[in-house]
Amino acid sequence: MTKFSDLNLNPKVMKAITEAGYESPTPIQAGAIPSALEGRDVLGIAQTGTGKTASFTLPMLSLLARGRARARMPRSLVLCPTRELAAQVAENFDTYSKHLKLTKALLIGGVSFKEQELIIDKGVDVLIATPGRLLDHFERGKLILSDVKVMVVDEADRMLDMGFIPDIERIFGLTPFTRQTLFFSATMAPEIERITNTFLSNPERVEVARQATASETIEQNVVMFKASRRDREGSEKRRVLRALLDAEGDTCTNAVIFCNRKTDVDICAKSLKKYGYDAAPIHGDLDQSQRTKTLDAFRGGELRLLVASDVAARGLDVPSVSHVFNFDVPGHAEDYVHRIGRTGRAGREGKAITICSPRDEKQFEAVEALIQKEIPRIENPVKVEPRKPRKPKEEAPKAEAKPEVQEAAAEPRKAPAQGGRDDTRGRSNSNTRGRGRGRYDRRDDNQVVGMGDHMPSFIALSFEERRSQ
Ligand code: AMP
Repeated sequence: MTKFSDLNLNPKVMKAITEAGYESPTPIQAGAIPSALEGRDVLGIAQTGTGKTASFTLPMLSLLARGRARARMPRSLVLCPTRELAAQVAENFDTYSKHLKLTKALLIGGVSFKEQELIIDKGVDVLIATPGRLLDHFERGKLILSDVKVMVVDEADRMLDMGFIPDIERIFGLTPFTRQTLFFSATMAPEIERITNTFLSNPERVEVARQATASETIEQNVVMFKASRRDREGSEKRRVLRALLDAEGDTCTNAVIFCNRKTDVDICAKSLKKYGYDAAPIHGDLDQSQRTKTLDAFRGGELRLLVASDVAARGLDVPSVSHVFNFDVPGHAEDYVHRIGRTGRAGREGKAITICSPRDEKQFEAVEALIQKEIPRIENPVKVEPRKPRKPKEEAPKAEAKPEVQEAAAEPRKAPAQGGRDDTRGRSNSNTRGRGRGRYDRRDDNQVVGMGDHMPSFIALSFEERRSQ
């Protein structure tokens, strides 16, 4: 097995590695570092959790240990798809460069241009940036990229998802042709292949197994969940989540809960808080200071449950996350792997539980196909009571209410022990409901033949209009 001492890294970098407690390089490190140190381009096909950040950081630091940066002319450039990932890469640089005298700047949105310009003006060895922000600085004439010797593109597949490929191509064009490129992606979509063919020169291709070793230590489960009514899916699903959290009890020291949509991230976090759980949301629409505060609290162990979107949690590196919950099955099967990779890091044990509703079953099959493994089903911890037969109706048929109205109605009436109701969308719901019903309560033709107990509201509206004409 390769040892770090075989890799020819700078002694000061080696010292930092020892202090970080790493015993031996991971496969991506053993594969990428020797070629990177030789000055060759590297194409690393690896996902987070494999140690890929150190696989480019360590050789870069060794290469940069000699020489000095000139004003406004960074010597190396790392491009990351999200602010969080960029901030994390910056932290990695700090860890591994602590015995070197190197400077770095982090160019991400949400931080004032002035502050960042002051740092660039002094000259930086490493510039870590999101593509948009980097180009903003470039266009302001405050940045010169003609001295970039090493350029890293991290998580290129995510760049593609986020529409950053044109920016990346432009940045490639602004750096010298002679630069060294270290390019990382978890997958090789045709568009990524095209970019690497265009901008990398005879790269060393290092591919590590899709399924990171980390995830072998993750116990995975799925709850197949069917809402009693479609319009109650959100609130019933949140109840399942709470029951799962309760069932895990103290073994769940902290967890990341993933939702597919930002609105659900907010609703889920608010709901958990109302029920007395220590939870906070993180997604791209929150301002940077809020995101940083939440992430710091989660990292520091002051926050137990982080409710997150995929992009916001991308690359989130908290060494000891005990659980990951997928409130929704992710839209892309690869995201499942990324998500569960937030737990079970660096050989630790972890648990990942997914809630899968019938409409997500196809997508869940895609996840199982990707990881080539059947994920064990566990019972829904919420006992579903059989629906009571409906009494013959005396009241008027209900028009289909707005989703939030139904959601509020579906929540437990009794105040929960630790918090309030899950009617996260506010008090106005009850008013809306009142108004909505009243309109149809006036009706006397309260049987709608052939519609069962479901009548779409637009049908009711058209009857109403005609009647009043
Ligand atoms: P990454 O894939 O870069 O997100 O790294 C995943 C985690 O592995 C991080 O917490 C790193 O600190 C850790 N790590 C990186 N390299 C090693 C190594 N050689 N030995 C042990 N842990 C490592």
